[in-house]
Amino acid sequence: MKRKKVLISLLVAAVVVCAVCLHNVYTVPVLMYHHIGNGADKSRLVVSPESFERQMRFLTYFGYRFLTLDEYVAMLKENKKPRGRAVVITFDDGYEDNYLYAYPVLLKQSIPATIFIVVDWIGQKDIMEWKQVKELSDSSLIEIGSHTMSHRELTKIPKPQVISELRQSKEILESKLKKEVRYFCYPCGMFDLFIKEMVNFSGYRGACATHPGKITALNDEFAMRRIRISRSADNLFVFWAQVSGYYTFFRDRRLFDSL
Ligand SMILES: [Zn+2]
Repeated sequence: MKRKKVLISLLVAAVVVCAVCLHNVYTVPVLMYHHIGNGADKSRLVVSPESFERQMRFLTYFGYRFLTLDEYVAMLKENKKPRGRAVVITFDDGYEDNYLYAYPVLLKQSIPATIFIVVDWIGQKDIMEWKQVKELSDSSLIEIGSHTMSHRELTKIPKPQVISELRQSKEILESKLKKEVRYFCYPCGMFDLFIKEMVNFSGYRGACATHPGKITALNDEFAMRRIRISRSADNLFVFWAQVSGYYTFFRDRRLFDSL
């Protein structure tokens, strides 16, 4: 009888330790989308409108809170974890299909999101026009961020050019949208300490990366880790793993390749 009690106590202690460990490694999933469409582009980065809508419904159904980048950054700075499940939605590159297919779904479910725009690409084939960018920016749901002027990898260009990519894109977006542009996104997720500091000095409040690994702190708002959502997340089990809050922890430790 005594032995049984000891075993139960050990089991309870193990469960408590596991729960505390899991709580400590939990990070809010920041999702990174690119194309939302059914076009000829069959790359992994295209998520169909149906799949996107299913994923948003999945998050709503399971009670996820959709955070704006402002809310998420405030949490990072205070080193806080959300109560219950939470998620952040972002899109890179400013594809027109974001306006055509993702925005109506976001609108229908009142989901806030951030779209990172490459200023020189605006109006090019498959990319949004200024009118569309402005309409999204004027909505209460979509925040427009900068994804540079040209989408060149910032680690591969001279420092003065890095500064101009950061500042010029912010200035142009702000003058067209009549709003502060507060967030930045590194092309291809590439940055170094100098670039990160320049983003801060240029007046941004934070920056999205992809998966910088363990080199930056989990709560560094200028190196926000994100999870790439691709075609493989058509499978809701894969999507569920990606939004679990533990995906980043295991990916940083290279316990599996990105899904
Ligand atoms: Zn990009």
